Amino acid sequence: MSVNVTIDDLLCQGHGRCEALAPHLFEFDDLGYARVIRSTPAGHDVEFAASAAANCPEQAIRVTRKDPSDSESLR
Ligand code: SF4
Repeated sequence: MSVNVTIDDLLCQGHGRCEALAPHLFEFDDLGYARVIRSTPAGHDVEFAASAAANCPEQAIRVTRKDPSDSESLR
């Protein structure tokens, strides 16, 4: 499955759960807000991205399929 990972900068409050769950996919910018390191993860990293999205208290992380016809679950 191919996915795109994005963060809504207007929603992110810098809690850091995403970076704690998947430090290889997320990091903090100079202002303390999260940004995506790898926006098109593959393999098990898709599960890490989905977990980070599910645990973001602001629902700021979006994990979307690159191919809408791909019916495989994100979790
Ligand atoms: S968990 Fe959500 S709100 Fe917190 S830093 Fe990550 S993206 Fe931002």
